[in-house]
Amino acid sequence: MGLRPTVVTKSRLEESNTRYAQGGIAAAVGPDDSPELHLLDTVRSGNGLVDRRAARLLTEEAPRRIADLVRLGVPFDTVEGQVALGREAAHSRSRILHAGGDATGLRIEETLRARAVAEGIDAQERTVLRRLERRGDALVATLARDDGSGVEETEGRPVVLATGGAGGLYQYSSNPSITTGEGIGLAFRGGARVTDLEFVQFHPTTFYHEGAPRYLLTEALRGEGAILRNEAGDRFLPQAHPAAELAPRDVVSRAIDQEMRRTGTPCVWLDATGIPRDRLFARFPTIVRFLSQYGLDPSRDRIPVAPAAHYTVGGVATDLDGRSSVPCLYACGESAATGVHGANRLASNSLLEGLVFGERVARQLLHPVPGGPPDPGRELLVPVVPGRGAALTSEEFAVVRNVLWEKIGIVRSGPGIRSALTTLEGIAAKVEPRSEAALPSPGANAVLTARLIATAAWTRTESRGAHWRSDYPRSDPAWRLHLGLVRAPARTKVVRRCQEGRARPTGRPPPPRAGPRRRR
Ligand SMILES: Cc1cc2nc3c(=O)[nH]c(=O)nc-3n(C[C@H](O)[C@H](O)[C@H](O)COP(=O)(O)OP(=O)(O)OC[C@H]3O[C@@H](n4cnc5c(N)ncnc54)[C@H](O)[C@@H]3O)c2cc1C
Repeated sequence: MGLRPTVVTKSRLEESNTRYAQGGIAAAVGPDDSPELHLLDTVRSGNGLVDRRAARLLTEEAPRRIADLVRLGVPFDTVEGQVALGREAAHSRSRILHAGGDATGLRIEETLRARAVAEGIDAQERTVLRRLERRGDALVATLARDDGSGVEETEGRPVVLATGGAGGLYQYSSNPSITTGEGIGLAFRGGARVTDLEFVQFHPTTFYHEGAPRYLLTEALRGEGAILRNEAGDRFLPQAHPAAELAPRDVVSRAIDQEMRRTGTPCVWLDATGIPRDRLFARFPTIVRFLSQYGLDPSRDRIPVAPAAHYTVGGVATDLDGRSSVPCLYACGESAATGVHGANRLASNSLLEGLVFGERVARQLLHPVPGGPPDPGRELLVPVVPGRGAALTSEEFAVVRNVLWEKIGIVRSGPGIRSALTTLEGIAAKVEPRSEAALPSPGANAVLTARLIATAAWTRTESRGAHWRSDYPRSDPAWRLHLGLVRAPARTKVVRRCQEGRARPTGRPPPPRAGPRRRR
């Protein structure tokens, strides 16, 4: 017998990050490529933290899952009858499949949604998952209609979180506004271990126009030959990294950030004028259309760009079949942390991660085998203290987004993170529910996720991949491990040892447990 899932989504069925993915999906399907080379690039990007077993599955299963998408009808672009393969930063081969030029996510989402509708899969739109809790042996999910018309509990059914990342918690982000990471917060609240949340990937090139939301200009543009210039028209990436514009995202984002600070400009410029016009218009039709609204033609004009929050590397810790540390709770896609991205995701590996591990979760649900996520290298108990149960106001949400951008952004430092934690805890004291029995608001779950990101950034006293601390600018071999965060049991007196060396009781995070436990 097959599965009879119910899909619950807080917006319309189609609204998601997936819909906006531009560049494409990585898979070793070219004649000069292999899963082993894809694995090597993935491991190299992850700065010492990639879980090799997970990344091997990702890269080996990729061609089969792409074949599934083709069978389901995703119209990948072709050249002379062969699948067209693009190149992106930190990939040693051209291995990015794309569809509709730069509309890959849209084509995948449309195809899968049409198939789900044709199969009669039950879907509840505008319904928010607000709480997960264990009652005896059962996992209970509380769902609330966003028009306030009712609350429903489901009991005894497995729950698969595919709630995406937390990029929308940042003031400047490539993500749609629904991407507030609440799935991660509510899983943590329900007892699941979350991990790697300090690694927030910033995309180097989002369109900059004062007052307008950021719009992603895919890495594939640089893959096709676009370069970055400063206000004076000079290139600055070759000085930052031998791979220049095709260096890993964290390197390019930091170099842009530094150049913007040095020159006092709010952006730098992407120069795609070296790409033949026909090629540019055929490969990036959506971007060309978008820029034309601002009177810009990328075959002629330099495009103002700045980095923005893009991808949440961490999430709910899972094993290779999507199982979390809570029985019956699974996670996949951007809300999960499988370990495939290490400290920094390789471009175009995230659509792939959802595809590969989503399929593995389905197989696991059909034919369960025991397991669970491996222990992280370090585990930290984080308390959740009852608050006044108020709703998060739009002004408070703006403060959350601003504080994450300013203090837990491309470059962080201890004092900044500490002040961010103080601000976030002040807001949490207001929006956290009054008691365990009270239903948390979606705002409370989002603020909790923001606190967890800040807590992880505070605790990891080194720089690695997408986590860059100016007060600890080097990677520390002792930190070559994952940091797991787990909710402290009620009434635990948590003691934080300050960096200055004094211990005091606090609502803030304690130090990591001494010594690595087991590496993933
Ligand atoms: C502009 C842009 C371009 C990108 N380009 C690429 C690319 O070229 N290649 C690539 O590999 N990756 C790309 N990415 C990243 C990639 O799109 C995402 O990582 C991936 O699509 C995430 O898929 P997902 O299914 O995990 O989550 P999503 O697609 O974000 O879906 C999450 C869903 O969960 C729902 N939800 C969230 N919380 C709740 C809740 N509490 N209750 C009910 N429903 C909830 C949301 O409404 C949404 O429908 C891009 C991302 C962006 C924003």
